[in-house]
Amino acid sequence: MTIFGKIIRREVPADILYQDDLVTAFRDTGPQAPTHVLIVPNAAIPTAADVTARDEAALGRMFTVARKIAEQEGIAEKGYRLIVNCREDGGQEVFHLHMHLLGGRPLGRMLTGGPNG
Ligand code: AMP
Repeated sequence: MTIFGKIIRREVPADILYQDDLVTAFRDTGPQAPTHVLIVPNAAIPTAADVTARDEAALGRMFTVARKIAEQEGIAEKGYRLIVNCREDGGQEVFHLHMHLLGGRPLGRMLTGGPNG
């Protein structure tokens, strides 16, 4: 099980903002913006490359929860970014699918590097 699986099961501490039957949302411990929240399916889906039709309810819930948390955090009006990193080239470090919700400052262009990094 990954660290996120243990957070979902409340076996390790985290700043959990929301949890229901399908998803859990908690603050990233290495924030890259004033608001940096991770929204994860409770099911242990390793990466975006592993999703199936059975996961569609949880994946949809991730977006509606992101919308609500963005409103609570006061970043909805100015805007924010949702990111899902996938596997090695995507820069994924924790192999439990997660959506980053980032906002609270201008985030600039989508990628900082050029075509060759
Ligand atoms: P990624 O590179 O997309 O896999 O992102 C993993 C994210 O998980 C990073 O932003 C880390 O700061 C964050 N992270 C790692 N461990 C924890 C933890 N125990 N609680 C909250 N966030 C974490």
